Amino acid sequence: MIEYGHFIGGQHVAGKSGRTAEVFQPMDGTVRGRVALASKAEVRAAVENAAAAQPAWGATNPQRRARVLMKFLDLIARDNEALAEILAREHGKTIADAKGDIQRGVEVVEFALGVPHLMKGEYTDGAGPGIDIYSLRQPLGVVAGITPFNFPAMIPLWKLAPAIACGNAFILKPSERDPGVPMKLGELFIEAGGPPGILNVVNGDKEAVDAILDDPDIQAIGFVGSTPIAHYIYSRGTASGKRVQCFGGAKNHMVVMPDADMDQTVDALIGAGYGSAGERCMAISVAVPVGQKTADELVRRLIPRVEALKIGPSTDASADFGPVVTAAALEKIKGYVDLGVNEGAKLVVDGRGFRMQGYENGFYMGGCLFDHVTRDMRIYKEEIFGPVLSVVRAHDYSEALSLCNDHEYGNGVAIFTRDGDAARDFASKVKVGMVGVNVPIPVPVAYYTFGGWKRSGFGDLNQHGPDSIRFYTRTKTVTARWPSGIKDGAQFSIPTMG
Ligand code: NAD
Repeated sequence: MIEYGHFIGGQHVAGKSGRTAEVFQPMDGTVRGRVALASKAEVRAAVENAAAAQPAWGATNPQRRARVLMKFLDLIARDNEALAEILAREHGKTIADAKGDIQRGVEVVEFALGVPHLMKGEYTDGAGPGIDIYSLRQPLGVVAGITPFNFPAMIPLWKLAPAIACGNAFILKPSERDPGVPMKLGELFIEAGGPPGILNVVNGDKEAVDAILDDPDIQAIGFVGSTPIAHYIYSRGTASGKRVQCFGGAKNHMVVMPDADMDQTVDALIGAGYGSAGERCMAISVAVPVGQKTADELVRRLIPRVEALKIGPSTDASADFGPVVTAAALEKIKGYVDLGVNEGAKLVVDGRGFRMQGYENGFYMGGCLFDHVTRDMRIYKEEIFGPVLSVVRAHDYSEALSLCNDHEYGNGVAIFTRDGDAARDFASKVKVGMVGVNVPIPVPVAYYTFGGWKRSGFGDLNQHGPDSIRFYTRTKTVTARWPSGIKDGAQFSIPTMG
């Protein structure tokens, strides 16, 4: 039984609140460990520790900060197998998928290595007579990240790497469901030569989150999770004057045009719909075939592929996907499938009865496929976050586009077609933050930014890429005139550069 406390000031610290949560191993349903849930006082202690460490780190030149992250990358590579094993055991995804989770985080650390260049300001020589103007990017101080269960390596790294590279101290509040990898990241940062206090990991639930939201010394919060919590964190965090960016839930559509390559489309849908048991914010959960012929062919081809999905324990290298994260998540997903049947959608593949032999207590669910889902159904409107794909049939392209545009979520979307004009029109008109053209999961590379529209994102800057440097720094603009100008005497009208 693993006991997770917190990682503060470069050390493991036991929880003092007396409150804990169980950490499960979804592949067999056992309890793997217990995680401490921080009180307000424990969050405050972590913030004070971080605040004391930050000024020296912020004053360290950016190349030296980048070197610590370089070493951090080496250590993540050294421990890749062990990290992937912890991740798969606590989350439920397969080892191969866990390595992908780590890799997509590593790429953002690599991006952050460019911080000496990325933090450069602007300079105008001679903006006025004897006057120069320049801008600086400075760290904010202590900042925080609150992250979800479904990418326990990638999303903490997306948040902490740019923040720390920019000279901030970072408080990470990871998901209480899979804290193992975030705690290891805290240890590796110290081993890489990072100063104690610059990466503090505080475990907890709503009490710890509320303490972060209200803490007067936390300047900025980056959140990723479900939309109701994202909205709550954005509202409460900004009300207390913080800079806040929140990324929420999703219902990603994939439009299948009549001219799409059907082999490619079906492969893409199977991977993007069911990979990681559908527990990805960029999973495709709605397929929108255009025209009856396309829909009939798509569904006919999908059925045997969904029936043939190989579900297995996280340690099975041949499994397509593993269990879902908790028994509660499993019940919720099954409840949505029951609801879809009651709402009148046609359940053409039913995975509710799946049992994993030898792992009967694991949180497994077979792939489900719904046909004839309509706009008014709750299974269309709400995020299910499981291995359930809904087919919504559109008469024509404009109906398909309007489905994407009218949905309250706007995280990712894809179009499959051979027609460049249709793809171009779609990319231009669709009201969604990340668009794939014959690419089902268009997660941008680390040096672009990631973020959804509508109720998938709150705040105005995205994650990673150049936006992350803007988010974790503030700009100072200096207008300078040297002594000869002082001889001019006082000036009472507003200065202009003319
Ligand atoms: P969640 O909203 O339940 O939890 C996210 C974080 O918020 C956790 O750290 C959790 O401890 C905290 N939290 C939970 N309830 C809280 C409350 N009442 N008050 C304060 N804090 C609370 O999300 P999850 O189930 O861990 O993750 C899955 C969700 O995250 C899905 O909706 C998925 O779409 C979304 N997600 C979005 C993105 C994105 O970039 N848009 C990426 C990954 C996941």
